[in-house]
Amino acid sequence: MPAKQVLIVEDERPIREMIAFGLKRAGFEVREAEDCRAARAALADTRPDLVLVDWMLPDMSGLELTRALKRDRETRELPVIMLTARAEEGDKVAGLEGGADDYVTKPFSPRELLARIRSVLRRSTGGQQPATAAEAAPGTGRTA
Ligand code: CA
Repeated sequence: MPAKQVLIVEDERPIREMIAFGLKRAGFEVREAEDCRAARAALADTRPDLVLVDWMLPDMSGLELTRALKRDRETRELPVIMLTARAEEGDKVAGLEGGADDYVTKPFSPRELLARIRSVLRRSTGGQQPATAAEAAPGTGRTA
């Protein structure tokens, strides 16, 4: 199975690099963007399997980026995990209502982030990338 690609959208370089390091070590392919504009450029270029979006970004908030991704037919299915220093429940709700598939509050441990990523990927690829058995017998992978 090819490595899953994660796009990290985070302006704080030490955090971005720390996340990238952990993900690469766990076998992920990583792309990095320091703001929403760079994220859009990266998305126009290749489609990752998941996007990590920091809430506080210099050009536009991560929440706005997430909403924009979920509105766009091209990127609607792309799983998004929001990263944020905000721990208030209202913010969490706003993030999830904005379309984020999950939400991780800073400071987080690399292990926690990895677990969240794997969990979201499992959910998101359930119907789209069937296991070998389902591929051999198309149509059996989905019941709906
Ligand atoms: Ca930030």
